[in-house]
Amino acid sequence: MQEIKFFTIDLYKIKGRGEFGCPKCGIKISPDDKTEDAYTILEPVMKGDCLDKIILQCNKCGSQIHLTGFQFLNIIR
Ligand SMILES: [Zn+2]
Repeated sequence: MQEIKFFTIDLYKIKGRGEFGCPKCGIKISPDDKTEDAYTILEPVMKGDCLDKIILQCNKCGSQIHLTGFQFLNIIR
């Protein structure tokens, strides 16, 4: 059975437009990528009315990535 790795990415620490590489396999993941070829959104986590984090799964290596830092960025749509 394959072990699932968990990573946390803080968008606030990423320069640029929220694009980052998967911490395990390095595939480029961009929140602007609407095709979701590289990743699948598993679950958006709300804290009150605000988006707290988004849990993604990398489609290449299967890692789960917890995307945090939305309170610092105005990318909530
Ligand atoms: Zn990956």
